[in-house]
Amino acid sequence: MTRAYNFSAGPAMLPEPVMRKAADEFLDWNQTGMSVMEMSHRSKEYMQVAHQMEADLREVMEIPDNYKVLFIHGGASLQFAGIPLNLTQPGDTVDYFNTGVWSTKAIKEASRYVNVNVVAEGDGNNPTAIPARSEWNFSPDAKYIHLCANETITGLEFQEDDLEAVFAQGKPVIADMSSNIMCRPIDVSKYALIYAGAQKNIGPAGLAIVIVREDLLGQARETTPTLLNWQTYADNESMFNTPATFAWYLAGLVFAWLKEIGGVKEIAKINQAKARKLYEFIDASEFYSNSIVPHNRSWMNVTFTLKNSELDGQFLEGSKSAGLLSLKGHKAFGGMRASIYNAMPEAGVDALIEFMREFAAKHA
Ligand SMILES: *Cc1c(COP(=O)(O)O)cnc(C)c1O
Repeated sequence: MTRAYNFSAGPAMLPEPVMRKAADEFLDWNQTGMSVMEMSHRSKEYMQVAHQMEADLREVMEIPDNYKVLFIHGGASLQFAGIPLNLTQPGDTVDYFNTGVWSTKAIKEASRYVNVNVVAEGDGNNPTAIPARSEWNFSPDAKYIHLCANETITGLEFQEDDLEAVFAQGKPVIADMSSNIMCRPIDVSKYALIYAGAQKNIGPAGLAIVIVREDLLGQARETTPTLLNWQTYADNESMFNTPATFAWYLAGLVFAWLKEIGGVKEIAKINQAKARKLYEFIDASEFYSNSIVPHNRSWMNVTFTLKNSELDGQFLEGSKSAGLLSLKGHKAFGGMRASIYNAMPEAGVDALIEFMREFAAKHA
């Protein structure tokens, strides 16, 4: 058996030690005679899995005690509706940055419920820069400010300086961190709410994580579906109905793995090194290019194009044969995309660079 380096944007590669542990205990978890998948979510054994998972997540992200962590079905996309339904009343105004496809989807959904003021939007459908601060236009009565911390399709990421300028508005800040959660240390207390689908940097699909400051609970609209109301999850340890039990368990293994390798601080060093060497290689090459402004380049999703797009097919075929999978860019943006989440070892990035170097030399 060989495991390839999988650069898929999501569902994405998971850490090999996690997959091995899951395989080892697949048929018989902790001498219970059954798989975690086959266990009642109300059982003492499963509650132990669930509690450990949450405790480990709280530890790795240093989540303050006045935040609830909710585990919700429906992916990050369901929260595009959940956010306005839980935090606004009809007629309210909210602020949204539009920095790409995921922001646009969040705006479209929120617009069904509230007045959305677009703070700033980049050029075209796939902006390559976070708009300059001088162009930001906040609404004085906005209930919250929403941003997509990392636009997965283009690889466009908010960095510290812009985020500080957003926090300085003094409004509740909500961030979609689906594709960059836990990639580096962050100060959770600066956010009112962080949410993420699990299938990029956390675990298997089928689960979204919502980290919400307690004072934001209890304000949902009367008509909010029970299972979209965060209070339901907060009151029931996210078990009002049957949770995605196996996804929780596997996410728990990922959190434990992160803890063991030194936490988010340690993985951040590796992530930064991986991203830096890949961008440096692309920038130094005349064969490949990346169109994102250097300051906003994502640590997690590195997009690039070949000078001659007629070679795209050959590039994808060749990389696949070399054990480098899923490098095709999103159809909305074209070109290539290497998603290098926490589970991608540095050796995977080295192998990719080596392949890119050889491919360029052969086709220059
Ligand atoms: C993948 C992704 C989503 C959608 O996640 P689902 O879990 O499929 O709903 C939302 N936002 C961002 C930034 C993403 O990368």
